[in-house]
Amino acid sequence: MITKDHPLTILHLYPREMNLYGDHGNVLCLRRRLEWRGIPVRVVPLERGDPFPDHVDILFGGGGQDSGQSRIEKDLLSRGERIRALIEDGTPGLVICGLYQLFGREFIPLEGDPIRGIGVFPACTKAGKSRLVGNITIDAPPFGPVTGFENHSGRTFLEGASPLGIVVRGKGNNGRDKGEGIRYRNCIGTYLHGPILPKNPALADFLLLTALQRRDPSASLVPLDDRAEEAARKSAAARPV
Ligand code: GLN
Repeated sequence: MITKDHPLTILHLYPREMNLYGDHGNVLCLRRRLEWRGIPVRVVPLERGDPFPDHVDILFGGGGQDSGQSRIEKDLLSRGERIRALIEDGTPGLVICGLYQLFGREFIPLEGDPIRGIGVFPACTKAGKSRLVGNITIDAPPFGPVTGFENHSGRTFLEGASPLGIVVRGKGNNGRDKGEGIRYRNCIGTYLHGPILPKNPALADFLLLTALQRRDPSASLVPLDDRAEEAARKSAAARPV
């Protein structure tokens, strides 16, 4: 049962180091879509050295520069077992770009040592000489067309898992196999910044409903008036690549 004493808990990984292109807005979006429905929610930021909360309903992590990824590497590895257990148990999550890469096995930047990941996702990333940058739209059933902005040197290759979607316009995971992101159990990795969730309400509500129903299988989400969100998505999808 979700009450003020036991609110839905969103764990926000490394908001100081990993927050590019408005990624923090995804947490604000999840929080507001719960508040609009009168569902108690709390957001717990986790920085390096912070205690891991006893209970987590949704995991979120944003993007970051190579230097930021290096700074959190050791702390993230120390949380690896706990995060893997949460995702394997079906906890919903969304990780963007830099943390998407570090939820895989490793990210090998153009310069410097490989940055080790925590191996939640069967995926590996290696930087390319050019950056994959621009507006991007993917076809991501059952969420429909999903649109955002990408800017990454990393080329991510999935190792047996399904992508979040297929690139309609833009580059995606590696600019070659037309895949974008990853869907592993209830956790989603993606290169789409923007932030992605405010303009893609079906994706936001998937994370929320999954978390709610893990607490109460009979839970449902009251529909919201998403006309503004849909208009924003259409407008973003019309932007040049
Ligand atoms: N530093 C990583 C790369 O360049 C991730 C970038 C990001 O999070 N936008 O691929």
